[in-house]
Amino acid sequence: MEITFEGKRALVTGAGKGIGRAIAIALAKGGAVVYALSRTQADLDSIKKESSNIKTIFVDVGDWAKCREAVEKCGPVELLVNNAGIGSNQSFLEITEGEWDSVLNINLKASVNISQVVAKGMVARKQGGAIVNISSQASMIALPKHTSYAASKAGLDQVTRMMALELGPHNIRTNCVNPGIVMTDMGREHWGGEEGKPMKERTPLKRFAEISDVVNTVLYLLSDQAAMLNGVLLPIEGGLLVT
Ligand code: NDP
Repeated sequence: MEITFEGKRALVTGAGKGIGRAIAIALAKGGAVVYALSRTQADLDSIKKESSNIKTIFVDVGDWAKCREAVEKCGPVELLVNNAGIGSNQSFLEITEGEWDSVLNINLKASVNISQVVAKGMVARKQGGAIVNISSQASMIALPKHTSYAASKAGLDQVTRMMALELGPHNIRTNCVNPGIVMTDMGREHWGGEEGKPMKERTPLKRFAEISDVVNTVLYLLSDQAAMLNGVLLPIEGGLLVT
C-alpha cells in the first residue's frame, strides 16, 4: 500500500514533542508541507531542522482568539491533526475548577476552534480534506485519577462523530484514534512507575503502544487509502479494551 502526501498541506498541533512531533516529521517525509504548531519555541526551532517541508507556528491552543488568528494566517490546509493535549492527575474528589477548565480547554475546546477554522477553508475550496483527532483509550474505560482527562477525550470522540456527520457531505473525513499508554513525556509522567505495570499486564499484547504505532495509524487515516473511513473511533491499545 503506497501512501504519499505530495502536494498536500498539513497542520499538526502539539508538534513540539512526543506523538505530534513524530506525526509532523512523518508527514513532511511523505511529501506534505507541514505547519507544526506548539507553545515552546525551542521545540519549534528543533523540529524545523528536521525537514525543509516544516514551517512552525508558535501559539498556545488554549488561547481561543490568538490560536484562531494564527491558524487563519497559516492559510489553506488539506490535512489536520488535533494532537495538542495535556494530562491530568486528580482523583474525582480532588478535581479543582482550574484543572477541569484547563484540561477541557486544551484537549477539547481548542480542537473545535482549530477544526472550525480549517474546515471552513476546506468547505470554501470544495476540495475536501481529512482530519484526525487524537483522543485516548481513557474516553472508553474508567482509569483512576482520569476524570477531567477522560471527559475531555470522550467529548472529543463525540465531536469527531459530529464533524463526520456535518462535514462529510463536503468530502471532509473526520476520524479519531484512541491510543493506549505511549511512553512520551506525558506517558512517563502518568504511567512510568509501578502504576504502569498492571496496565501492561492487562493488555493482551503485553506491551504499550510505540509512537510509531500511533503515527502509522494516523497517516493511514489521513491518506486517500482511507477514503471511505469517516467518524471512526480507532483504539490503538493492544486489545486492552476487550478485557
Ligand atoms: P507530550 O506531552 O509528549 O507532547 C504534547 C505536545 O503538545 C507538546 O509539544 C506540548 O507542548 C504540546 N501542547 C500541549 N498543550 C499545548 C497548548 N496549550 N498549546 C500548544 N501546544 C501544546 O504528549 P503526547 O505526545 O504523549 O500526547 C499527544 C496527544 O496524545 C495528546 O492529545 C494526548 O492526550 C494523547 N494521548 C497520549 C497518550 C500517552 O500515553 N502518551 C495516550 C493516549 C492519548 P509543551 O511541551 O510546550 O507544553
